[in-house]
Amino acid sequence: MIVGCGLTGVVIAERIANTLKKPVLIVDRRAHIAGNIYDYKNKDFITIHKYGPHAFHTNSQKVWDYLSQFTKWEPYFHKVEAMVDGQNIPLPFNFNSLNMLFPKAICEEFEEKIIKEYGYSRSVSILELLESKELNFLAEYIYEKVFVGYTVKQWGIEPSELDRSVLSRVPFVSSRNNCYFQDKYQAIPSGGYTKMIEKMLDNPLIEVRLECDYKKLTDTNKYEKIIYTGMIDEFYEFKFGALPYRSLDFDFVTYGSEFFQRCTQVNYPNNFDFTRITEYKYFLKEKSANTVVSYEYPCEFKLGINDPYYPVPNSKNQALYERYRSLGKDNDSVIFAGRLGEYKYYNMDQAVERALEIFSKDIANA
Ligand code: FAD
Ligand code: UDP
Repeated sequence: MIVGCGLTGVVIAERIANTLKKPVLIVDRRAHIAGNIYDYKNKDFITIHKYGPHAFHTNSQKVWDYLSQFTKWEPYFHKVEAMVDGQNIPLPFNFNSLNMLFPKAICEEFEEKIIKEYGYSRSVSILELLESKELNFLAEYIYEKVFVGYTVKQWGIEPSELDRSVLSRVPFVSSRNNCYFQDKYQAIPSGGYTKMIEKMLDNPLIEVRLECDYKKLTDTNKYEKIIYTGMIDEFYEFKFGALPYRSLDFDFVTYGSEFFQRCTQVNYPNNFDFTRITEYKYFLKEKSANTVVSYEYPCEFKLGINDPYYPVPNSKNQALYERYRSLGKDNDSVIFAGRLGEYKYYNMDQAVERALEIFSKDIANA
């Protein structure tokens, strides 16, 4: 049995059914499949990502080949801007962003220093840039204008209280490349994510039961193995206390104009209470006289009220997670997986890669 019909649970179900030829039940408390990558077409035939913007990107040939069995792809390079001092500058911060904010002569000087220190077309974490003596003024400027306000809004804590890996997700790029991601493969499933998930579940050996909460099941001991992709602290009834998660409030608005903004996503590090506005028709280049955007308001996760979208990566939370994990160390009939089961800030490709690994190590060869 698999708890959670998100990407992680579905990859494992697909492998069990299609390669082991064994029956598998997959349950989800939500009324739909696909977890947080669920999308649907609205009345204007625009594909909406119900749980916020999802752009697929990977350098893993294995993940790309695996998912390509279930979908065709629409090439898509995610473009993001950030509102800084009243201007929309390209993100990740790169030489184009620099040229919008500083006079030409200063930019030339910075560019020369950056290339000398890091080389051309490199991704450098803002935290690494802050350690540079030569570039400290620029690093402090970017940190203040792009990272501090956004991070405090998004996480409700200071950047110093988060693992370095969080801010490093959006590096400084020493070129004129405006793409948000630098991966080899960047694309959106042509028919949307939900259609891809439907195809993965298309095997009579897989039974999907929606609006079904694991907590309410009384016959769980009849299953050979349980793969649990929900929150690990909830599984253990919060016996060591709750692990922190961050949630979001999405405000979807339809505007009666062809476009609302210049690119898919605009971030607001310093202004307003929302962090970003996403315009959905850009993902699959859909045409409509109307357009739909979502405003994202980060908030605290509250059990039963909203959804746990983000684990909060830092050493204190990791230690609490490890305490929960140690409870199951002698029990190989329950396997924890996914963004919530492993308390890891996985992108889609990382979730797939890890699910394939769990399947082959802990299920197929167990
Ligand atoms: P989930 O999708 O969360 O699935 C877990 C499922 O388990 C849920 O459907 C839940 O209802 C169910 N469940 C939990 N507890 C129970 C229970 N007790 N009983 C029954 N069911 C239960 N990744 C990218 O690569 N690119 C992006 O652009 C990107 N953007 C993102 C934007 C946002 C706002 C968020 C939140 C994530 C984004 N991601 C992105 C990450 C991506 O969503 C995840 O990697 C992926 O969805 C993880 O899948 P999962 O199956 O592990 O978790
Ligand atoms: N970040 C920021 N300013 C931005 C974009 C990102 O400070 O304009 C920081 C912030 O801490 C954020 C993290 O980088 O949570 C990761 O950003 P990403 O775009 O990867 O977030 P996600 O799409 O996962 O919400």
